[in-house]
Amino acid sequence: MSFLYQKLVDQLIARGFLRTPEIIAAFRHVKRSDFVLPGMEEEAHYDYPLMIGYGQTISQPATVAFMLELLQPKLGDKILDIGAGSGWQTALLAKIVGKSGQVIAIERIPELVDFAKKNLAKYNFDNVELILGDGSRGYRKYEPYDGIIVAAAAPDIPDELLQQLKIGGRLVMPVGDEIQTLTVVKRTGKRDFKYQEFPGFRFVPLVRDNN
Ligand code: SAH
Repeated sequence: MSFLYQKLVDQLIARGFLRTPEIIAAFRHVKRSDFVLPGMEEEAHYDYPLMIGYGQTISQPATVAFMLELLQPKLGDKILDIGAGSGWQTALLAKIVGKSGQVIAIERIPELVDFAKKNLAKYNFDNVELILGDGSRGYRKYEPYDGIIVAAAAPDIPDELLQQLKIGGRLVMPVGDEIQTLTVVKRTGKRDFKYQEFPGFRFVPLVRDNN
């Protein structure tokens, strides 16, 4: 029930994962149960990842909260969301950046693009573009971005992603092999980047389809 979902949001606030009013409002508005496979709606109200098929998962709510707090998306921002999966985080971002903003979401598995489209259609966002493809090198068509968020892990941050950030923009991405470090990169100048690291996460791999 929706009550259980609001309780999950309350817990994410109490545990310190959610802090920013706009991010909290987005969590309350965009229900995770709208982004899971049929029959798993009840389970969506608990804080763990769930299978969405094709070996992929909808991320754990605490992790999504933590990453969005690190990204700090704002009204009017243009955000690149790499690894759209279920579309839940895409929808959260769409709510946060609002009508004056834009979310470009990329997913490499065609069936998941369809799944995310179907899930997003439950909300009336007109600021989301969902793209089928390999986002491991970003998406140049709409660069530069205020924020880039990656929901899949790679051993290193691809340089192309850093180059597609606006000055003042941020990238949030899990880096590493088995266990990853969530890495936040802030672009402070044309050639200046500031790094922050939060170890101890586990994501599905960022797959490279081209070379
Ligand atoms: N935010 C999503 C996370 C899904 S898991 C959610 O909460 O539902 C990460 C997703 O990244 C998977 O769907 C996987 O297929 C996708 N992915 C992996 N490598 C990718 C790549 N190179 N380009 C685009 N998507 C990729």
